Amino acid sequence: MTKPLLELIDVHRTYQIGESTVQALRGVSVSIEQGDFVAIMGPSGSGKSSLMQILGLLDTPDKGDYLLHGKNVNTLSEDELAGVRNNVAGFVFQQFHLLKRMSIVENVRLPHIYSGLKGDFRQEAIERLIQVGLEQRMDHTPNQLSGGEQQRVAIARALLRDPLIIFADEPTGNLDTKNSSEIMKIFKGLHEAGKTIVMVTHEHEIADYAKRVITMRDGVILSDERRSPQLPVVVDPGDRGFDPHGVKPVSLWQDGRFIGFMAQAFQAILANKMRSFLSVLGIMVGVASVIAMMALGEGAKASMQEQLKSMGSNMLSIRGGSARIRGATQGAGAVARFTFSDADKISALKPLVKSAAGVVNGSGRIVYGNKNWSTNLSGVGYEYGTMRATIPAIGRWFNEEEIRKRDKVAIIGVTVVKELFGESNPVGRTIKINRINFTVIGIAPAKGFSGPQDEDDLVLIPVTTAMFRVLGKDYLSGIFVEVSQPTWIEQTKSAINELIIKRHRLKAEDDSFNIRDMTEIQKMLSSTTQTMSLLLGSIAAISLVVGGIGIMNIMLVSVTERTREIGLRKAIGARKGDIMLQFLVESVGLTISGGLIGIIAGVGISLLLAIFAGWAVKSSMVSIAVATVFSALIGIFFGLWPARKAAELKPLEALRYE
Ligand code: ADP
Ligand code: MG
Repeated sequence: MTKPLLELIDVHRTYQIGESTVQALRGVSVSIEQGDFVAIMGPSGSGKSSLMQILGLLDTPDKGDYLLHGKNVNTLSEDELAGVRNNVAGFVFQQFHLLKRMSIVENVRLPHIYSGLKGDFRQEAIERLIQVGLEQRMDHTPNQLSGGEQQRVAIARALLRDPLIIFADEPTGNLDTKNSSEIMKIFKGLHEAGKTIVMVTHEHEIADYAKRVITMRDGVILSDERRSPQLPVVVDPGDRGFDPHGVKPVSLWQDGRFIGFMAQAFQAILANKMRSFLSVLGIMVGVASVIAMMALGEGAKASMQEQLKSMGSNMLSIRGGSARIRGATQGAGAVARFTFSDADKISALKPLVKSAAGVVNGSGRIVYGNKNWSTNLSGVGYEYGTMRATIPAIGRWFNEEEIRKRDKVAIIGVTVVKELFGESNPVGRTIKINRINFTVIGIAPAKGFSGPQDEDDLVLIPVTTAMFRVLGKDYLSGIFVEVSQPTWIEQTKSAINELIIKRHRLKAEDDSFNIRDMTEIQKMLSSTTQTMSLLLGSIAAISLVVGGIGIMNIMLVSVTERTREIGLRKAIGARKGDIMLQFLVESVGLTISGGLIGIIAGVGISLLLAIFAGWAVKSSMVSIAVATVFSALIGIFFGLWPARKAAELKPLEALRYE
């Protein structure tokens, strides 16, 4: 005697609803043989569906044993049960449970993606649709079909994996008489071709198609009668290999499975275009602002470095007075006074020092015609021109002769030009500086503002003229030093320090002069821009987090909306991991799409800023890569919880969800 295909031994099933318990099955023992066509009958609430769900491995008994072809399946995990369902069972439900977004071929093909088998099963799906008489409808979606046609699609789907047993719960419950009899003819044909069928119904005309009728009442079997002899067994279940432990987990990368998941995810995203767009808005704004801000930050940095270069980045400036108390040096001890010979000795520090030039500062009252203007007066040496990049483009720089002879020649900044000469050319004109006549020989190149300081509001004259003819000082205000190589700046500073201490007989702790270099200014400027970028960056980060929460919200809604879809997928063999992956791919798909739009918008915004506002911007590949990776991570992080929620759903409860 062969083993029965399915066997239940004294099975109990109790439902708990709040305080009360419902005993749906109270000790059911039954066995289903190969080739059976069983109708389970009985009044509503008698436990028919409960019995069928346990037979179909959608539910597990509280008590009692279930032998599947002689093997006890009570100990199987949820995922193992899913694998067995995919391999041996096909389900047909009263509500059809088709996925509305997909064409009917896609619907029929669905069990395949959880089977781990190679191939795309498209041909098989088409064959099954022909088998149920729907060859004309291949490209339709479920909404375009009548109820009877939809149920035929569901039967085709149940048949896709060529299951041993078909479970049908009230398959004609939602159909009229004509459609019902057509569906039953299909079942009859399947049975004659050797399929084992277990069907729940409460209609006698439907039960009449079956070869065996089991009647239930109050959770027990009342009667079990065979109405016609069993057909000879045509399929040997042993060949099917439906040993649950033989079902191997499927790799994500196998046979284009991942592509399949992606395609489904985008189908789902596109099915709700407006909603998807709104939910990624936060990510879009976040990514766009990250990109634009990084571009602005980089641009600012680059233009700052450009400026520093024009200021001369290996420059040192030596001044009398304390480095700590700026300006307030008068009462705070001695102030070192530098002379030309200090400058000469410093410029003799070879090879560290390339050149050194003394400067003397004061204020000048400049008069031209009936206009006058107060400005900064700087007496400078010959080297100053190249060192500080102040060689005029209009006119010329001082020559060494003029400096030596204390000539009365001046180079004036563009602000001074504007104030005194307006639009006319000042070169060659005579102006008065502190009542002394000077000839203008050039216009200093425009430098713009450095902070509140107008760098173009100045007059340059030879240092000697300034000291002895105009300001009446016999010492320098400071010395500019150009270091031969940027890497030697620290060395040079300490060499100069030592030299000055020795020459002026100072003590090491005396704080009467200071040496500054541009790296300090550079550091200060870059720390300001850093603070700026940090601030802007955190605003962007906040909008990304808010965007992520938006994604999580919409994914939770999506999981709730698609609870029945999840139930269906699980019924036909989806494991927890499959469902989880489906929703994760979807949320990552959402955030990455949002991220890509955001990148395009961000690059666009920075270009617009560059073109119309004239801001320095610099979009980098790094920021684009970072934004992409970040939006994917947000998708994973914020999609994880909804995906878990979906994966944890029980197939039956999910199917029942309204
Ligand atoms: P039938 O299919 O014969 O109408 P069911 O097997 O669906 O009967 O239900 C049997 C009994 O168990 C009924 O009293 C029903 O209310 C109860 N029941 C079924 N499913 C659940 C459930 N998920 N939660 C609580 N009670 C349930
Ligand atoms: Mg029922």
